[in-house]
Amino acid sequence: MLNVIFTLDYEIHGNGDGCAYELMVEPTSRMMDLFERYGAKLTIMADVAEILKFKEYKELFGRDDYHYDAIAAQLQDAVRRGHDVQLHLHASYFNAQHQDGRWVQDWSEYNFAGLPLARMIELVRVGKAYLENLLQPVSPPYRCVAFRAANWSVTPSRNVVRALLANDIRIDTSVFKYGRREGLVNFDYANAPSDIVPWRASETNICVRDDRSELFEFPIYSENRWVGAFVTPQRIHRAWVGRLHRLPGTRSNGKDGSGPDSYPTGGSRRSAAGRNPLWLAKKHAWKADFNQCTGRQLVRALNRAANRHDSTARPLPFVLIGHSKSYTQVNARSLEPFLQYAARQPERYGFGVFGDFKLPPLADSARKTATTVVAM
Ligand SMILES: [Zn+2]
Repeated sequence: MLNVIFTLDYEIHGNGDGCAYELMVEPTSRMMDLFERYGAKLTIMADVAEILKFKEYKELFGRDDYHYDAIAAQLQDAVRRGHDVQLHLHASYFNAQHQDGRWVQDWSEYNFAGLPLARMIELVRVGKAYLENLLQPVSPPYRCVAFRAANWSVTPSRNVVRALLANDIRIDTSVFKYGRREGLVNFDYANAPSDIVPWRASETNICVRDDRSELFEFPIYSENRWVGAFVTPQRIHRAWVGRLHRLPGTRSNGKDGSGPDSYPTGGSRRSAAGRNPLWLAKKHAWKADFNQCTGRQLVRALNRAANRHDSTARPLPFVLIGHSKSYTQVNARSLEPFLQYAARQPERYGFGVFGDFKLPPLADSARKTATTVVAM
């Protein structure tokens, strides 16, 4: 059995552009309606850093220009309807200033994995507390148990692993096998232990298995593929939109959805291809992105994963990634056959959330280590 988990990064454009209602609330509402027709669940990875800024703006100016109330109501509604909400953080928003009608982020905190430990622990604490305070009144058993870093930036890993465990978050879902980045963030996930089987993640390197670790990495499903696999109408649209919303002073749009491995000729990949002609002749990380891949591609990937991995003894998480800002009508039409396909085979595929996976209890030793670290 593969347990299909749809994780949705819930945010406006990476450079601070865009209307929160149009890029977050409206598409997510349509997505939940569609998913419910097939018994599927959405896991909203809410960027609490920007949501808190929208709240602060409303309190400061007495105007809800960033639709904070609609966002908070939607997250509560999602949990009420049986979907899930977990933590995503674009740390550069925590110190953001609102100037001349737009958000000026603190780029010194753009790279999550590069933050000092104490700062990282504090930001994760704030994010988790926000979600639990908002959602427990709707669903008392609700817990924030899973995390995704902005731009998948979780190496170097030591601070990340310690900061998550210090906050009793035991699932990270930032890694995708074969993924690589050089630039504003840097990582190389080529040697990750698996594209689908969760592993206990080493503090020294989250891509190394360490059976003493209390943190589990649930990788985003990914394959190593030729560039042709990346050409879909959704990706072309996304790459075009991304070019309109670049980070200041860079060639990157800074958003998670159309990074270098999303569309080979878009954003910084274009320059990578220019620098290295062999780039086109290489394989690249193809994530199971339910807003950018076609439904047919996802069906084939799901079948390949099921055929390659024996999940008879224990269910495996087939983690897909998406972005509310990328959910177009074309995408909705393309995604539906995938939902139909999985729903018709309940003996092979189920729809789930991270909480369906029962993790062994946190050992006291891990908690102590984390606490010691906080105190230092
Ligand atoms: Zn993000």
